[in-house]
Amino acid sequence: MRTFAVDVDSVLLDITGPMVRHFQSRYPEHEVYREMVQHWSIETSYGVSKEEVDEMWGHIFAEPSPSEEGAEEFIHRLKGDGWRVVAVTARIPKFQPALIRDVKRFALDDLIFTHDKETELRKLAPEGFIDDKIQHCHEAARAGVPRVFLLDQPWNYSMDLHVPYERVLSHYEVRLG
Ligand SMILES: [Mg+2]
Repeated sequence: MRTFAVDVDSVLLDITGPMVRHFQSRYPEHEVYREMVQHWSIETSYGVSKEEVDEMWGHIFAEPSPSEEGAEEFIHRLKGDGWRVVAVTARIPKFQPALIRDVKRFALDDLIFTHDKETELRKLAPEGFIDDKIQHCHEAARAGVPRVFLLDQPWNYSMDLHVPYERVLSHYEVRLG
């Protein structure tokens, strides 16, 4: 069976939306919206301390994360087309139980936690992979994954348009043979 690998945070699960809403309720003097999240370092995006951000994530992951728009339909379509769908995620250990709880709705075939996606993807040898983080797309390419998709998110907007991957604005644009 052919395998398609997917990232979880900001590909299957929307963690930015809840973070933005939580931030707004805590710091109502700041106007923050999703499109402002331009850095992977949320401390840098929002100008708050790392400790405060860590504490906010604890609150956010106490509740189930919503799905990214189109993500559930996407996984359903892949599985319907006969793909084995495996999530490969770098979620930190502290918040992995929340992820395990939240991805149940996708009925994934497997779930891999790793800080080294290149090594895991080399072992897994999927035919395709999608991530919102360009560094992880680079790792997939180095691992020899034939089709690498970059899902656009606000932190990619300023990136050179000519990334060497299939850059998609939504899951709907991922078309596989
Ligand atoms: Mg991600």
